Amino acid sequence: MEAHAALDLALNALRTRAERPVWQPVPDAVKAQFTTAPSAAGRPAAELLQQLAATVLSYDTGNTHARFYGWVHGSGTAAGLIPALLEAALNANMGGREHAAVYLERQVLAWWAELFGFPPQAGGLTVSGTSLATVLALKAALTAQFGTALRDEGVAGFAGRLCAYTSVEAHSCVARALDLLGLGRRALRLIAVDDQFRLDPQALAAQIAADRAAGDLPFCIIGTVGTVNHGAIDPLPALAAIARREQLWLHIDGAFGALAALSPTLRPLLAGLEQADSLAFDVHKWLHVTYDAGFVLVRDAELLRRAFSDRPDYLAGAERGLAAGNPWFTEYGPELSRGFRALKVWYQIEHFGLERLAASIEENCRLAAYLAARIDVEAQLERLTPLSLNIVCFRHRADDVHADLNALLVTELQERGLAAPSATRIGGRQAIRVNLTNHRTREADLDALVDDVLQLAAELLAGAG
Ligand SMILES: *Cc1c(COP(=O)(O)O)cnc(C)c1O
Repeated sequence: MEAHAALDLALNALRTRAERPVWQPVPDAVKAQFTTAPSAAGRPAAELLQQLAATVLSYDTGNTHARFYGWVHGSGTAAGLIPALLEAALNANMGGREHAAVYLERQVLAWWAELFGFPPQAGGLTVSGTSLATVLALKAALTAQFGTALRDEGVAGFAGRLCAYTSVEAHSCVARALDLLGLGRRALRLIAVDDQFRLDPQALAAQIAADRAAGDLPFCIIGTVGTVNHGAIDPLPALAAIARREQLWLHIDGAFGALAALSPTLRPLLAGLEQADSLAFDVHKWLHVTYDAGFVLVRDAELLRRAFSDRPDYLAGAERGLAAGNPWFTEYGPELSRGFRALKVWYQIEHFGLERLAASIEENCRLAAYLAARIDVEAQLERLTPLSLNIVCFRHRADDVHADLNALLVTELQERGLAAPSATRIGGRQAIRVNLTNHRTREADLDALVDDVLQLAAELLAGAG
């Protein structure tokens, strides 16, 4: 009864989302509802649903709305409600053991390995997202390079000499991973990019040589497929060649960009990805799976297992019975108990099919080109990024007279509930950043965005003058 009411509420929230502002500030009265003491006696479900409808469901981020373009957010699907329900009913613990769900997660991992051109011995783990996947991949890289003794002795013996390489455009999760692994953020060398914002392989080779000459210990190169600011794709074949020559691990951050591999037309852009030692990517972004879900994929799964496997007596496997199902997923990462994230990924892929998911990615790239063309013909706007995949950054040129104009435009668009781009800086300038990983966005939404930017700017400039 109550579950049916919840389902109706959920469906209705999605169905009517377009009628509400993209975003609106959370009123103090709503915030105050989450400062009360926990219920001692419990409360009826109907009351809880009512409260949630009036609070979290009403004052959301807006990423299920067609005009949400901020950061890199997935937009979800109504179909995502179905695996969410089943996941709760099943309450599977995916750390290991012998049950059917394990075979489903292994199937999903095998699908990804095949899609990215990894060999049959590839494997990995469904995780919360690229941030965690990066930590696991770099742990595998360290163990592969310096042996499992590192697991007992830690990195202290390396006295700050370990180092890794990525471009200045790389996501901050790479530096965070090095921090978490005890190497420190300074172990990450940030390499310059070319005029298309791609890592410069010559600068990389020079930096590796300089570090080796100074007695440092390079262990990993991290390339990006789809940088946050520009959607740029690093020159993967060149990175793979350097990694091979220098005997370094090649990790790829493909958070959203790796999913372009689903599209036959975009796939050639990712050539070289199949040579990586590991890959981190998300499905809660461009695959529209409900938050949160991503993957770490390692070319030789055994190297990931070696970095984590640890089976005390009380977790020993067995040939038969419930303790079979070896190897257990817990051997491939830091968590013992893990949820069944793989179910919603499996459901999304099987329900929509790879062709439809790829078509939606291609449509986002087409819309990015459409928006770029719209910006290019507007005399008052300037596009700040070359066209690559799905991200367009631009500015209103009147920031020459009103320095904060573009940041202000982003805030005003958000606060008026018109659209939700995010703000960034490109070449030191404030920029309006539009990321298209939203399957609900249409040309008309982007037309409205351009119109709104021009009109708001006129209004703000009139006010300022
Ligand atoms: C989003 C993103 C990340 C971080 O992924 P999470 O899933 O948010 O942890 C890393 N790299 C890039 C390029 C991203 O876009």
